[in-house]
Order: sequence, then structure tokens, then C-alpha cells
Amino acid sequence: MKIKKNDKVLVITGKDAGKTAKVLVAMPKANKVVVDGVNVQKKHAKARSANQVSEIKSQSGAIDVSNVMVVCPTCDKATRVAYKVEGDKKVRVCKKCGALLDVAEVKEVKKAAKKATKKADATEATEKKPTTRKRTTKKVEAPAEDANA
Ligand SMILES: [Zn+2]
Repeated sequence: MKIKKNDKVLVITGKDAGKTAKVLVAMPKANKVVVDGVNVQKKHAKARSANQVSEIKSQSGAIDVSNVMVVCPTCDKATRVAYKVEGDKKVRVCKKCGALLDVAEVKEVKKAAKKATKKADATEATEKKPTTRKRTTKKVEAPAEDANA
């Protein structure tokens, strides 16, 4: 699946067509995404204990990935997704401007550039943080990509 959590997407079909919002949940197995404020459904929640209040909650429902397009963070256009191999990593790039689509990866690249300039005063603590973050994003997102690529 080409859409990931935290992507900014444009909804192209359905009752929320034209909306741009962030992906809250990506469901690669079902090929669905939950987009903030899109396909809002009302849920009647009955109080189950004395301290709870019965209420009607509004929550975003899942929509099919084919109904959304990624909005490139660099050129701000809705685009299709191309893949590029950078080092030993497969990264998503914008088909229109060629910039990286992954906000995390863009940050990583920026951080790496910063680190290179700040290498003189780099402590062990700052060195450790990016590696743990990298591992968690890999775990969640890498298998999903492979299964649906
Ligand atoms: Zn772009």
C-alpha cells in the first residue's frame, strides 16, 4: 500500500471528495485508511457505569485507499507515488517533483545533514534517539509495503 499513517491525503471520491487531511490509521491488509474528519460516522455510546455519560460520538470511518491521493509535502500537489532506492532503503517519492514523500524520512535526511554539521558536539544521547525511532517505523511499515507492493 502506498499510503501510510500521517500522510497528508486528498480525498478524490465519496461524500468527502475534495477534503485534504491526515491519515490516522493505515490498514494495509484491508486496503483501507482512516482519514481525519472523513467519512464521519455517529456512534451511540450507552453509559455502562454510573460515571459514564451516554453520548453520540462522531468518529472518522475507514475508506478505501483508492479514494485518496497523497499530497506531496514539497510541491503541495496531489500525486501518485513512485519508488526510489536510496542507499539500502526503498523510499516513496513524488511523481511530480521527485521529492521524498515520507515526512519521517524527510526529517531523517534533514537530521542527518544537521548531524554532519554538528558532528563535533554530538553526544551519545543524541546519537541513540534516531536509531530507535528508525527501528519502530521499520517494524510497522516495512512488511505492509512488501505485502502489497
Ligand atoms: Zn511533489
